[in-house]
Amino acid sequence: MSGFGLAAVPANARGVCYSTNQCPERRVLVRTAPSTAQMARYHIETYGCTSNRGESRQIERALRDGGHHPADDPKAADVAILNTCTVVEKTEHNMLRRAEELDEQTPADLVITGCMALAQGEQFREAGIDAEILHWDEVPEHVRNGECPTTTPDAEPVIDGVVGILPIARGCMSDCSYCITKQATGKIDSPPVEENVRKARALVHAGAKEIRITGQDTGVYGWDDGERKLHILLERICEEIEGDFRVRVGMANPKGVHGIREELAEVFAEQEKLYNFLHAPVQSGSNDILGDMRRQHNVSEYVEVVETFDEYLDYWTLSTDFIVGFPTETEHDHEQSLALLRETRPEKINVTRFSKRPGTDAAKMKGLGGPTKKDRSSEMTDLKMEVVGEAYESMVGSEREVLLVEDGTEESLVGYDSAYRQVAIPGAENQAELGEIVTCKITGQNTVYALGELI
Ligand code: SF4
Repeated sequence: MSGFGLAAVPANARGVCYSTNQCPERRVLVRTAPSTAQMARYHIETYGCTSNRGESRQIERALRDGGHHPADDPKAADVAILNTCTVVEKTEHNMLRRAEELDEQTPADLVITGCMALAQGEQFREAGIDAEILHWDEVPEHVRNGECPTTTPDAEPVIDGVVGILPIARGCMSDCSYCITKQATGKIDSPPVEENVRKARALVHAGAKEIRITGQDTGVYGWDDGERKLHILLERICEEIEGDFRVRVGMANPKGVHGIREELAEVFAEQEKLYNFLHAPVQSGSNDILGDMRRQHNVSEYVEVVETFDEYLDYWTLSTDFIVGFPTETEHDHEQSLALLRETRPEKINVTRFSKRPGTDAAKMKGLGGPTKKDRSSEMTDLKMEVVGEAYESMVGSEREVLLVEDGTEESLVGYDSAYRQVAIPGAENQAELGEIVTCKITGQNTVYALGELI
């Protein structure tokens, strides 16, 4: 995917290059096998420094949260993830060789991420390796294959550093033809608002500065009770819980949001604790394909959601997902998806090349050829990088309030501004602490995140 050939970005997601004394080591993360046949089995190999290992841990946590399982061997995996390092030339050769082996010797779909993927992604393409080249953050969404994240049955709030994860409900109201998650989670099951507020309060009391609200489809929270209540829950969390914290809302399908778009946008506009961020996966710009996918929304409903948020909010982030190469997708359908992306210009976009999941209706459809899917995926990824890059470029020179939530490398700290745009602040470690809200000037961008300087 040429859009990821960020030749000018010899840095990791935290905005700081790895130094040669940091990462000569090879690390391999292989977990023991599982066996829930229906979800994806993954294999992760990690090379390089502690930061890269941290990225792999995050990927793995997201995959496990999504109901996927580690394979005991790359040959038994559905997806092999190679988290690369590019510290010295010898390492580069090793990365290329290993990528070739995984591509040729295993049936797994290959995903290459990490520093070499971001800085020299074209080398893998030039070597003829068939792989998706992705930023670390995009890997879990890619493996999810367009499905919603799976909240595990025993999902309870957890704290990870200064981030509290709050699953508000399990299940969804849809029956997407490509989805295997649904078989594991069933229909939406929403605990009362009161219970979720109590859990959110407990997270804040335990030190959470950012609460991440999760679920398969947060937009239909309360539907099983006869009333969609996401906006009510958000308002109550923001108004009733004292303290300095922010709230990020996880994936909400366009159909669920559409019915409460005014109410929701109003709460976002009124509540400063809420990140102005909406993840509404559209998946296609063609109503024919949305019908074949059995998505419940149509393109107009998605556009109406975006327009409503545009009316209420001056500065916000639209995040969406596209599945490219669905079995019935024609060239015209694909063009419609590209047009929708150009029209709505999301600031965060996940592009997934369609692949079959066993037992789903979409798996029974006659698929498109690999080269067609690959070409469409590359085309959409190029456009995505242009659109997202523009959004980050427009931040340069501005001042932002950033909540610091993670360590980066080489004394950098990483956080999110009010619209949940990621900002890496090199050298901040000695001047600020995780959980703090700092003011910074945006000095640059690396297409998928911004770089800042403390003021
Ligand atoms: S909304 Fe669709 S993709 Fe998401 S969990 Fe439900 S059936 Fe699966």
